[in-house]
Amino acid sequence: MQILVRCPKCNAGLPIGASDSSAQIACGACGREIPLDVSEEIRADRAVDRCPQCAGADFYIRKDFDPKLGVAVVAAAAIISGGCFFYGRDAIAYGVLASAVVLDLVIYRFLGTVTVCYRCHSEFRGRYPRTASGFDLHTADVLEQEYERRIGRR
Ligand SMILES: [Zn+2]
Ligand SMILES: [Zn+2]
Repeated sequence: MQILVRCPKCNAGLPIGASDSSAQIACGACGREIPLDVSEEIRADRAVDRCPQCAGADFYIRKDFDPKLGVAVVAAAAIISGGCFFYGRDAIAYGVLASAVVLDLVIYRFLGTVTVCYRCHSEFRGRYPRTASGFDLHTADVLEQEYERRIGRR
């Protein structure tokens, strides 16, 4: 399992491998030492049961979508179809735009999912079975506030 630990101080994402993680990492951006408590389940890629960073046990699932990829597909299509419009090839231009939309949908459809910690927003990627449910705004509000009070951000 791969974990993207969120630094509680500067919010930088710090990628670590769950199986070879140490008890503490230093944030590459701000230098803060972040103690980690990686559970057996996470180490073995069996389940995400307890967040190694904040010890929370509340997670949600979201699509592992990189917005940069979606933007790149659309931007490339816009450039190509722009050229086609310029040379009067309207049918091809529309075709390119339509396939970009379809391609985005296909990418989205086959994306994996990532488990995210409600409190500190650390992310978990691996082959473990997903048991968390989708994002719930109310839960997020409550847990984020609790966490931010605890680390003194509010
Ligand atoms: Zn940091
Ligand atoms: Zn957490």
